[in-house]
Amino acid sequence: MNIIFMGPPGAGKGTQAERIVSEFHIPHISTGDAFRAAMKEGTPLGVEAKKFVDQGLLVPDEITVGIVRERLHQADCAQGFMLDGFPRTISQAESLDAILESMGTKIDAVIDLQVDRSFLLARLTGRRICKSCGSTYHVVFNPPAKENVCDKCGGELYQRSDDTEEKVGTRLDEYINKTAPLLDYYDRQGILRKVNGEQEINTVTAEINSILRGLK
Ligand code: ADP
Ligand code: AMP
Repeated sequence: MNIIFMGPPGAGKGTQAERIVSEFHIPHISTGDAFRAAMKEGTPLGVEAKKFVDQGLLVPDEITVGIVRERLHQADCAQGFMLDGFPRTISQAESLDAILESMGTKIDAVIDLQVDRSFLLARLTGRRICKSCGSTYHVVFNPPAKENVCDKCGGELYQRSDDTEEKVGTRLDEYINKTAPLLDYYDRQGILRKVNGEQEINTVTAEINSILRGLK
């Protein structure tokens, strides 16, 4: 089962992907996570990506596609995968189609988490992430049992440097201008599934689960 999660920054892609992969046992591939890991390690990829990520801009397609191509060829993707935050441009989507075709596979469903822009600032500025395991929390909507401590691994929580009010505006503009046109691209292929991402986290998970069970 090959799935893409789409939706604006803060729609809940990472939150839902974390829950879905534990049920379906397929890898969760987040290009945002890959860039943050490379930036933390200071690799050449990380240094290049940082120039864009820090401004809330998309990283150039050729860099991003290269990472995904390499990841999809790893053995654990053979039974399926869940892409979160990729593709984000039409050119990335076309490259993804070509990569999958060369591997003899295709995307089965694109889950579009629909959330109005008015919800996103509060979701993004209140987001907290575990430094150790990457789990996502929200100070109000999904708080950990103990402030600033991850429920799952006891790690310390941090706030992403691009989750500030000024960066969020640029990121949402990038989404509207470059990523939203992809919804039509997948709708025309008949694989787009819309989910109301404004609902409570568990309700959203249940709706996605029922769509994915129907695909198996
Ligand atoms: P994305 O991966 O799409 O950028 P996240 O999954 O990181 O979004 O969610 C953004 C923030 O909103 C996180 O702090 C998360 O805990 C919170 N969140 C996610 N889904 C919901 C929801 N349905 N209702 C309220 N808050 C949510
Ligand atoms: P995310 O964690 O998905 O919110 O992504 C964080 C940042 O990483 C984005 O604002 C971009 O700068 C960069 N990024 C992640 N995925 C992509 C992508 N598919 N194409 C271009 N840039 C990306």
